[in-house]
Amino acid sequence: MTRPLIGILGGTFDPVHVGHTQLAQDAIAALGLDRLRCVPAGAPPHRAAPEAAAEHRLAMVRQAFAGMPVEIDDAEIRQAGPSWTIRTLERLRGEMPDASLVLVLGADAFLGLPTWHRWEDLVRYAHLAVANRPGSDLDPAAMPDALKHLFQAHQSADMAALRDRPAGHIVSFNMTPCAVSATQIRAALRQGRPITALVSVPVEKYIQQHHLYT
Ligand code: ATP
Repeated sequence: MTRPLIGILGGTFDPVHVGHTQLAQDAIAALGLDRLRCVPAGAPPHRAAPEAAAEHRLAMVRQAFAGMPVEIDDAEIRQAGPSWTIRTLERLRGEMPDASLVLVLGADAFLGLPTWHRWEDLVRYAHLAVANRPGSDLDPAAMPDALKHLFQAHQSADMAALRDRPAGHIVSFNMTPCAVSATQIRAALRQGRPITALVSVPVEKYIQQHHLYT
């Protein structure tokens, strides 16, 4: 049996930007994903509340990923209460019992994992695939001890292994470096500076039309 390989990309997407679409595109190619599920967070418990309302972030995500093999999953936004990634993985595992699930993360998000609810259980439900991000180094020496142990116990250099079992490997992959963050975009908009080339044209128009982040 060939196991479907399904990527999962979470985030606040406040707003979605070219770093996210580059990450998605490069994850699909480097990992050989059959599909990618993008799951915008409602209320992420491990960080400050998003600035834009959930329905705006969701609408921008839909526009940014249009035309890519990416499904938008609005369950975290529709549900009440905090958006715990572990709950999303439990749900997706229930939906797709035979698939290999791969949680796609930028290196900064991976380094922040120990602040996530039940973070050590994530590898029971999915593989983790970590992309380089300018400013965040995936050097085990820079990881807190518990994360370093998880990384070293589950690390694999073999992308093909992702289909061998449904969860449990941690792989890293190279993406085209993209030094863009949502924080930088929100700051630029507050200061009236242009964000052209940081977000797609439809997302820039959406932000203008709805007067977001000003
Ligand atoms: P903020 O600046 O508000 O913290 P962000 O730009 O990091 O936001 P998120 O929505 O928090 O965006 O990121 C979702 C996921 O995308 C995370 O796994 C993050 O590491 C990854 N990601 C975001 N931007 C990039 C980028 N430029 N390069 C690589 N990965 C990225």
